[in-house]
Amino acid sequence: AAPAASTNLTDGFHVLVQSLLKNDLNRMYGVIGIPVTDVARIAQAKGIRYIGMRHEADAGNAAAAEGFITGKPGLYLTVSAPGFLNGIVPLKEATENGWPVIMMAGSSSRELIDLGEGDYEGLDQLNYAKPFAKAAYRVDKVEDIPLVVARAIRAACSGRPGGVYIDLPGDTLGQTIDATVAEGLLYKVNDPAPAQIPAQHVVDEAMAVLASAKKPLIYLGKGAAYAQCDDEVRQFVEATGAPYLAMSMAKGLLPDDHPQNAASARGMTMREADVVVLLGARLNWMLNFGKGKHWNENVKFIQVDIDPTEIDNSRYIAAPVVGDLKSTVGLFNDYLAAHPFKADPAWLEAIQADSAKNNARFGGAETADTVPMNHYNALGAIKKVTDANHDVYIANEGANALDDCRDIIDMYLPRHRLDCGTWGVMGVGLPYAIGAAVTTGKPVISIHGDSAFGFDGMEVETICRYHLPVTVVVLNNGGIYRGDFKNLGDDGDPSPLTLAACAHYEKLMEAFGGTGYYATTPAEVEQYVAEGVASRKPTLVCCELSIHAGKESGHITYLNPQPVTGPL
Ligand code: ADP
Ligand code: MG
Repeated sequence: AAPAASTNLTDGFHVLVQSLLKNDLNRMYGVIGIPVTDVARIAQAKGIRYIGMRHEADAGNAAAAEGFITGKPGLYLTVSAPGFLNGIVPLKEATENGWPVIMMAGSSSRELIDLGEGDYEGLDQLNYAKPFAKAAYRVDKVEDIPLVVARAIRAACSGRPGGVYIDLPGDTLGQTIDATVAEGLLYKVNDPAPAQIPAQHVVDEAMAVLASAKKPLIYLGKGAAYAQCDDEVRQFVEATGAPYLAMSMAKGLLPDDHPQNAASARGMTMREADVVVLLGARLNWMLNFGKGKHWNENVKFIQVDIDPTEIDNSRYIAAPVVGDLKSTVGLFNDYLAAHPFKADPAWLEAIQADSAKNNARFGGAETADTVPMNHYNALGAIKKVTDANHDVYIANEGANALDDCRDIIDMYLPRHRLDCGTWGVMGVGLPYAIGAAVTTGKPVISIHGDSAFGFDGMEVETICRYHLPVTVVVLNNGGIYRGDFKNLGDDGDPSPLTLAACAHYEKLMEAFGGTGYYATTPAEVEQYVAEGVASRKPTLVCCELSIHAGKESGHITYLNPQPVTGPL
C-alpha cells in the first residue's frame, strides 16, 4: 500500500542535500540523468550551486580543483554505469594528487545487481570504485545518509587527502522518513582534517641534520601548498637562508621572483645540495626517486609528510618527520628561533650566479618576435599579462605547453596554478579552470596544447553558460608534441601525432556566445589575453604556432621508449 500522505515526510534526496549543506558543501559539479536528476534539482533549489558539465571526468576534475584550492572536499555527481566509469578517472587522479574530492553516483537496486539480472546501466559500482578511491561507501537506508556524508568527508580530508566514492542506489533516494526524525540525524563533522603533531625529539633530530648542511635545499611540493601554511613556510625558508625549489603546483607559495628561488639553477642546485628538506613533495618520478645522476650521491633527506608510508618509498630517508605541515613547519620555526641556522651565503650566491647565466642564455627566446610563433614567445607574451595580474589563476595542460609554461610564467600567490599533476595527465585543464573560477570568482587563464584541448574542449560551452571569467589559450602547433611528423607508411593518412594545424579553435568559443581571437604574433597574444582577462568574460585565443615548434614528449622524452631495431 502507498504510504499514508504526510506533510511531515521527507526523502533520501532531501536528506542528502541537507547533510551536504550541514557540512558547508555548497557547490556540486555533475552530469545528471537517471536516477540522480532530482538530487541536482533539489540541491540547486536548497542553495547548493550546481555546475552542469559536459563530461563526468570534467565534473570530477572541476571538483578536484576546488578541493586543492579550498582544502574542503569538492563534490561531483554522475549517473550510473557509464557516467560512473567516466567519473572514476578523475577520482583516481585526485587520489594520486592527494586532493579531497567526493564522487556521488546513482546506482541500481542491489537485488538486480547481485543476481546479475541485467538492469538498465547496471553495474556493481561500489566494487568497481574501491581500487580507484581512497574510500568507497554505499548507503542503503535513508537514515544512514548523514553518516555516509560524514564518513566521506573525513576519509577525503584526513591524513593524505584523496577521492571518496558514495554509491547512491535509486531506492535509497526514494525512501521516506519523518522530517523531524531526519533533522535530528543531521550533523556536522567535527575536525575533519586533524593536526598530526610530530614528537619534539623527531623535530630536534631533523633540525640537527639541517644544521649539518653545507649546501641545504628546501623542496616545496603541492602538499605544502595544499596545507595552507603559507606564512610558516615563508618564515622557515627565510630563516634558513637556504635556496628553495618549488614543484609546479607549489609555485607561488613564495613568489617566483623571491631571491632564494633556485628555479633557474635547478640542475646545479639538485646535484650539489647535501641536505634536502622535502615539504609536501614526494620522491616519485618527478624528482627522479631521489637518486641517480640528478642528485648529490651523499645527499641526506629530511622528509615532512602526513603519510607515514611515504617515507622510504624509493630510498633511505635520514630524517623522517611524519606530521602535518602546518604544525611541523611551525615547530621547525620554533626550533630555529632558539637554535638559529643560516646557510652559508656563498651557496646561495653561487646559485644566483648560475641562474643569471642560464637566464642570459635562454631568456631571449621568450621575447623574440619570431613568426610563426613557438611556445617560448607565445608564453612570453602571456607572461606580460600575468606579471601585471598576480591574482589570475593558471590552468595548464599539454606537453611542451605544460613544460614551457611552468618555466616561463611566474606565479606570485599560493594555490594559483593547477596542471597535469602527479600522473601528468591531459583532460584536466578546462575543468580545473572552471573549478577555480567557480570557487574563487577570480579570472583564470587556461593554457592548453592543441592536443590537450581536445580532451575537454567542449567545456567552453560550460564556461559560456555560467559566464565564467576564463580566458582559454590554445597553443596550436598542429599535433601531439608538434605537427610536422610524417606517416611512416604509404596509405596517405596523417601521422598518428598530427592534428589540424589550420584549426580555428576560437570559433568554438564564438559558437557559444564567447569572444574568439586568432593570434599569429606575440603582440596579438598579449593584447587578446589582456583583453580576455580584463573583460572577465569567456574568451578563447587560438595561437598559431609553427608546426615545427615543440619536442616529442616535452621534457620527459627520456620516458619515451625508442624502437630498438629502427622505426620500420
Ligand atoms: P609534488 O607533486 O608537488 O611533488 P606530491 O603530490 O608528490 O607533490 O606530494 C605531496 C605530499 O604532501 C604527499 O605525499 C602528501 O601525503 C603530503 N601532504 C598533503 N597534505 C599534507 C599536510 N597537510 N601535511 C603534510 N603532508 C601533506
Ligand atoms: Mg600540439
